[in-house]
Amino acid sequence: MTTTPPTALSIAGSDSGGGAGMQADLRTFFACRTHGMSAVTAVTVQNSLGVRGFTEVAPETVTAQISAVAGDMGVGAAKTGMLASAEIIDAVCSGCDAAGIGRSGSVPLVIDPVAASMHGHALLRDEALEAIRAEAIPRATLVTPNLDEVRLLTGVEVTDGATRRAAAQELLKLGAQWVLIKGGHFDGGATCVDLLSDGDTEIELTGRRHATPHTHGGGDTLAAAITAALAHGHTVPDAAEAGKRFITQAVADAYPLGAGTGPVSPFFRVDTA
Ligand code: PLP
Repeated sequence: MTTTPPTALSIAGSDSGGGAGMQADLRTFFACRTHGMSAVTAVTVQNSLGVRGFTEVAPETVTAQISAVAGDMGVGAAKTGMLASAEIIDAVCSGCDAAGIGRSGSVPLVIDPVAASMHGHALLRDEALEAIRAEAIPRATLVTPNLDEVRLLTGVEVTDGATRRAAAQELLKLGAQWVLIKGGHFDGGATCVDLLSDGDTEIELTGRRHATPHTHGGGDTLAAAITAALAHGHTVPDAAEAGKRFITQAVADAYPLGAGTGPVSPFFRVDTA
């Protein structure tokens, strides 16, 4: 018998192509030595060329998945990805509150405020953006927007250090404990710089920029690696640094798959037998 690893819960949409969403979370959790669990919010139909459509899971089934695993196996840390609708966001928030997940409880919660795929397909209904602002973010131990999501959530267009700091302040005002503004979509430079802030402490996380078109699932993988580190008991700054190292290597190891965009890869952490 071996030691039971920490548990990590992904509350996210399924990607039939296996590179993003819940599948990215679960393989990252595995690579980071956590036991991955899932509450599926939506089933997307997608491949390397994009998202063809999705079906939402009934909100009460989303809540029930969270309470089933939390009540029996326990949750070391949780993350959200695609939440699709305001009704599902309500369901996730009530499930998390009942399980002590999020700022009002003892279990860290990472909110990755997924709005659209990299090909521009909506993964969140327009009217659900306000529920992300008003319900999800106030529960977040950490919120991890990319620059498009920052603009949608705060109206701030990040173009330099001052606008990035202003955007972080706006997200903290919404109630998140920590904010990680990802700079991966900021063009130019040999590095990708992310800003981590709780309003008092500001940390710049820098990683090498790798020239690859295959970055499908990159945001999910970063947030999942941070969630796994939180499940292992690390502080938010240490977990964010571990996540940054993980995603930098996962992008370096991304592989082509299908005719479109291939996924980032966590295989560097897995031995070949
Ligand atoms: N599909 C699902 C279910 C997702 O959750 C996400 C991102 O979170 C995506 C697709 C999009 O991934 P990408 O923008 O990396 O293509």
